[in-house]
Amino acid sequence: MKTFQATRLFFDRAADLIDMEPSWREILTTPNREVQVRIIVTLDDGRIASFLGYRVQHNAARGPMKGGMRYHPQVDLDEVRGLASLMTWKTALANLPYGGAKGGIRIDPRQFSRAEMRRVTRKFIDQIHDVIGPDTDIPAPDMGSGSAEMAWMRNQWEKYHGFNPACVTGKPVEHYGAKGREEATGRGVGLMACKLMRRLGRRAGQTSVAIQGFGNVGSHAAKFLTESDFCIVAISDISGAYYNPQGLDIPAALRHYLDHDSSLEGLEQGRRISNGELLQLDVDMLIPAALGGVITKDNVDGVRASIVIEAANNPLSPAADATLHERGVIVLPDILANVGGVTVSYFEWVQNRQHYKWGLNRVRQELDHVLAQAFESVWEEAAKHRVSLRTAAYLIGVRRVQQTMELTSVE
Ligand code: GLU
Repeated sequence: MKTFQATRLFFDRAADLIDMEPSWREILTTPNREVQVRIIVTLDDGRIASFLGYRVQHNAARGPMKGGMRYHPQVDLDEVRGLASLMTWKTALANLPYGGAKGGIRIDPRQFSRAEMRRVTRKFIDQIHDVIGPDTDIPAPDMGSGSAEMAWMRNQWEKYHGFNPACVTGKPVEHYGAKGREEATGRGVGLMACKLMRRLGRRAGQTSVAIQGFGNVGSHAAKFLTESDFCIVAISDISGAYYNPQGLDIPAALRHYLDHDSSLEGLEQGRRISNGELLQLDVDMLIPAALGGVITKDNVDGVRASIVIEAANNPLSPAADATLHERGVIVLPDILANVGGVTVSYFEWVQNRQHYKWGLNRVRQELDHVLAQAFESVWEEAAKHRVSLRTAAYLIGVRRVQQTMELTSVE
């Protein structure tokens, strides 16, 4: 199922619960603006190449729109549109003063040199600089992009509009970035896992965890969970999965990842299995932290974990989600589980606007505060309506956006 349709189905489950009128469903699911551009660059060898770039601005009722820029060969308008809507519900759920947006470039960054990626990024900003900015729409990293891309974006945007580092978040710390932004999404996933365990009355020490994906999110989640006494038995990346039922040595895996150009290839730990097998391991907690759509009706019956934490955006299809819910599996939904990233983006934006720098401890403390409030509100809402955590999370986010719109847009 395509991304936008999936997010729309999740939206409808919450909208049904509050008997939302069709006109409001239309208003809340239709993006404000969709931009598609063609990015033309000269490659290092003199050849010319072109790529499609997108920015979907979904909803600006609660504030400037906010969301990452995905660099991936499967990026298309439908995916960006679905992910932009998730950002609207996510920022509303965490009560950040933002709307939602998402962007991306249909490109495989591993096939190009850094100089080529820099040119692609700058040319992309050339084409969209007039629709983004610190008070309208603020890009950030997502899959395939990181702090270097954000520094290029900021620099290119400022060529048109002048100094204003709040125009992009997720920048390097030396370039007005925030301490703790890089670890924030993975750390947030770990913090959420701990909050869930406390609510379930379960102990971290007896909990086995499999994490699919060892990029920025998966690796920081693994680090935090290991430090919190969870037993990580499987990790994976594009090179395959590594499984040891007794537990992996995560600090050694992190060192390997850093020493091998952000890859687990060649890791001499555990048994080598496939990414598909990892999803079906006999573990307590499964954390998909890579691509969307990895658990569908075709493989959901093989999932044996009793807790699934969606570190990635949209990793479960609606059918798989319904099956897991029926089986009593607890799913911590993406818009709650990975909200730590955009939360620390917000802290970065605030610091940029105030020309004041926070220390790492303050960032971590305030992150925990925002996440605790979001988690508890979802937990209570789910109990009140006897619905899944996902439907409860959507309900809170969607209602907040609708209430704000009702105050201003209806004459
Ligand atoms: N790309 C991240 C997300 O999906 C972070 C967005 C941001 O920091 O604005 O939540």
